[in-house]
Amino acid sequence: MGLTGEWARDWVTDSAEVIAQNRVALITLDRPIGDGDHGENLDRGFQQVLAKLDGLAPDATPADVFKLVAMTLISTVGGAAGPLYGTAYLKAAGAVTGAPELDGAAIVAWLTAARDGIVLRGKAESGEKTMIDAWTPAVDAAAGALADGRTEPEILDAAATAAEAGALATEPLVARKGRASYLGERAIGHRDPGAQSTALLLRSAADVAAR
Ligand code: ADP
Ligand code: MG
Repeated sequence: MGLTGEWARDWVTDSAEVIAQNRVALITLDRPIGDGDHGENLDRGFQQVLAKLDGLAPDATPADVFKLVAMTLISTVGGAAGPLYGTAYLKAAGAVTGAPELDGAAIVAWLTAARDGIVLRGKAESGEKTMIDAWTPAVDAAAGALADGRTEPEILDAAATAAEAGALATEPLVARKGRASYLGERAIGHRDPGAQSTALLLRSAADVAAR
């Protein structure tokens, strides 16, 4: 069975929980190579989304839920990550508008649209130590899993696993975008906070789909 509007709501609820649990960890990652606000910004944003979730119609589609997340993150999360994640969820919504259930192809379509939206907005390429270094491996792994005939939860699991590896792989990189780029070589050895939050959000999506 494809992913439903109920999956999307449960993903939001679980995301809010996971981000709250990792608030300090994300702040700790952002402190040495940024300004230490990443965990706080995202936590505030997802708590706001959570508060608005009950206002959705009972038959809200995944795209309706993604759109709510987008609008709320854009209006409540400052810094670089707010507009970037906001764009990602908005483009994801656009890729699956009206569909009550998302099959594997639709999952790959929204993941791809989300990543492309972040690139359009932030202009980051792979290897520049940003959230793109988690998103692009996730998109590629999801597409590979779809081609291998995997189920929807397996496709999301592949995306999450690749995002986790991608986040880890930002550690040796020099940053070319965002605040961390001001540090030059001093950014080496630190994991990118946005890549880490991307891995957390995609793992949450997979966990909820597997339930
Ligand atoms: P700020 O840097 O404004 O304090 P956050 O701390 O919330 O914003 O988010 C920082 C994260 O945003 C970085 O870890 C990185 O993943 C991501 N980021 C910053 N600039 C870009 C960009 N141009 N493209 C993609 N991601 C970016
Ligand atoms: Mg920051």
